[in-house]
Amino acid sequence: MPPKDVETLFARLSQQEPAPRTELHYNNPFTLLVAVVLSAQATDKGVNRATADLFPTADTPEKMVALGEAGLTRHIRTIGLYRNKAKNVIALSRALIERHGSKVPHDREALEALPGVGRKTANVVLNVAFGEATIAVDTHIFRVANRTGLAPGKTPLAVELGLLKRVPQKYRLHAHHWLILHGRYVCVARTPKCGVCVIADICRYPDKTNGNPPKAAARPRVRPKKITAKKPTAKKQDL
Ligand code: SF4
Repeated sequence: MPPKDVETLFARLSQQEPAPRTELHYNNPFTLLVAVVLSAQATDKGVNRATADLFPTADTPEKMVALGEAGLTRHIRTIGLYRNKAKNVIALSRALIERHGSKVPHDREALEALPGVGRKTANVVLNVAFGEATIAVDTHIFRVANRTGLAPGKTPLAVELGLLKRVPQKYRLHAHHWLILHGRYVCVARTPKCGVCVIADICRYPDKTNGNPPKAAARPRVRPKKITAKKPTAKKQDL
């Protein structure tokens, strides 16, 4: 995709949602990290349902360890892979206490060394909690980047590196959320909603579901519902 179309793509997505946020609920960097670990192969809505009762009880590594694996399992058993996730969350809570003074480290290498935390999770935490211009490639971003021709790639890492190269600096901080929202609500996996897509005219996908994009006045917002996530509190982190 030529640079002028990349600029157009982000200009349009940003007009729809100037200040996008994660849809995961959290109230500090630790609960953000836990929510992202729980969200692997699960929906944000499902994670939010489980954490609504969990986080008031366990919003620090110490409280999470005190809750224990069995206690945590009871809260998250509606989420896929919950047994492994419970093990990882308890282990990462212990690691935060032992290695990082109970704080979530602002450091990619240290984050990726935590149990259950890979590059994608580290990217989300660095972006949302610490305001770094990282791009975490999940299934939605992978699909949108490939379909549109924005940053084609066979692996999430290839797509991430392509996006980092192509996304203009001024859009980099929020690019992750704009692309996720577009993939979650418009460029959906089975039948993309090309007829109401604001970037249909510049998208390179050969199998668009119908022709031209609608006129500007008729275009829906990317996301029909208001985001309810709380603001990140990285600067006041006191865990
Ligand atoms: S035109 Fe269709 S395939 Fe292209 S980004 Fe929009 S919804 Fe996705």
